[in-house]
Amino acid sequence: MKKQIAILGSTGSIGTQALQVIEEQHELYEVYALTANNRVELLAEQARRFHPEVVVIANPAKYQQLKEALADLPIKVYAGADALCQVVEAGPIDIVLTAMVGFAGLPPTISAIRAGKAIALANKETLVVAGELINALAQEYRVPILPVDSEHSAIFQCLAGEDQNPIEKILLTASGGPFRTCTLEQLAHVTKTQALKHPNWDMGAKITIDSATLMNKGFEVIEAKWLFGVRPEQIEVVVHPQSVIHSAVQFQDGAIKAQLGVPDMRLPIQYAFSYPKRLKASFDRCDLFSIGNLTFEKPDTNRFRCLALAFESLKRGGNMSCIVNAANEIVNRAFLEDRVAFLRMAEIIEETMTKVAFIQKPTYEDYLATDAEARRVAESLI
Ligand code: NAD
Ligand code: MG
Repeated sequence: MKKQIAILGSTGSIGTQALQVIEEQHELYEVYALTANNRVELLAEQARRFHPEVVVIANPAKYQQLKEALADLPIKVYAGADALCQVVEAGPIDIVLTAMVGFAGLPPTISAIRAGKAIALANKETLVVAGELINALAQEYRVPILPVDSEHSAIFQCLAGEDQNPIEKILLTASGGPFRTCTLEQLAHVTKTQALKHPNWDMGAKITIDSATLMNKGFEVIEAKWLFGVRPEQIEVVVHPQSVIHSAVQFQDGAIKAQLGVPDMRLPIQYAFSYPKRLKASFDRCDLFSIGNLTFEKPDTNRFRCLALAFESLKRGGNMSCIVNAANEIVNRAFLEDRVAFLRMAEIIEETMTKVAFIQKPTYEDYLATDAEARRVAESLI
């Protein structure tokens, strides 16, 4: 029996790479559902190629166009955010890959967990916003959360066979982004075009901007806390500009295990699908001789305030990381629309953290309300 996979966000960077994995491993995996936000043409093309049972377009205004594009095929077509939550519950689905962007990933991920589906988690915002809730649900429904983010996949790979051995420290590597060597004066004037040129990874626009501010690394610290059950002090961010070491784990005897490779998301995506097995794959191999040198630096939270704010939110707990995520989504979008300067993004996030009501033990409804309120506050500060 082939494993049935639902991809939330199949037209994005992670989604399209996941389809390449499924194509290469077609004897093991099959697409059950594909979903996208707006890109009807690409979604229809993917549907023709992979023959899913169902496709969903989140934007209802695009429903008719998608329906017509697939009129000659026996594929169910739905639209809207609620439909995303419903399709992931379908009986035959084994794995739901959450590859959509932002807070919008939270509701369908919760539905999938409640329906007992294994989660291959790319949408880190889900854990940033509501890690405690997601962990509790995953435990209740006995559902594995398999990391797709390259750093967390690396940590997960290092932990294979180490069930008896507690983690002393996680070494979370960061490329440092395109502005690693910029001074504060230079950072004040950087543009979105410069920010969108990531040195090592080709990703969606939102995460690329988050990588330039290091908010992405801050989110990954939060993600690591919830995935691996460590305290914030046990996570050390290590700037490693070559992006060869994808992350490492230090154990109680001082041993450090790391996972190395070329920067290619297909490997972590495939490992989430095939865990605990490794599958033969055609990805490029890492040539240490051509890389030559690996270097390491401490992150500078003075220039990259977002990293400090994420750590701070993790220490505060409650709904604070939800506030940071929402404010970040607003400033990230505004930066892409040239409405806010690079350094102003962290200032607005920090101010939003002081203005939205803090809730120590948030419920799901509290997260929804916090997200809405933090967006409103952040937007008003732009
Ligand atoms: P992307 O922008 O390339 O693609 C996003 C996908 O989600 C698209 O298919 C889009 O149609 C869909 N989508 C966006 N908003 C939606 C909404 N409101 N409702 C329904 N669908 C929506 O993004 P990406 O770079 O592939 O990133 C996806 C997720 O994976 C993010 O959470 C990101 O942080 C995480 N991630 C990405 C990478 C990477 O290499 N791209 C690496 C690690 C983690
Ligand atoms: Mg990452």
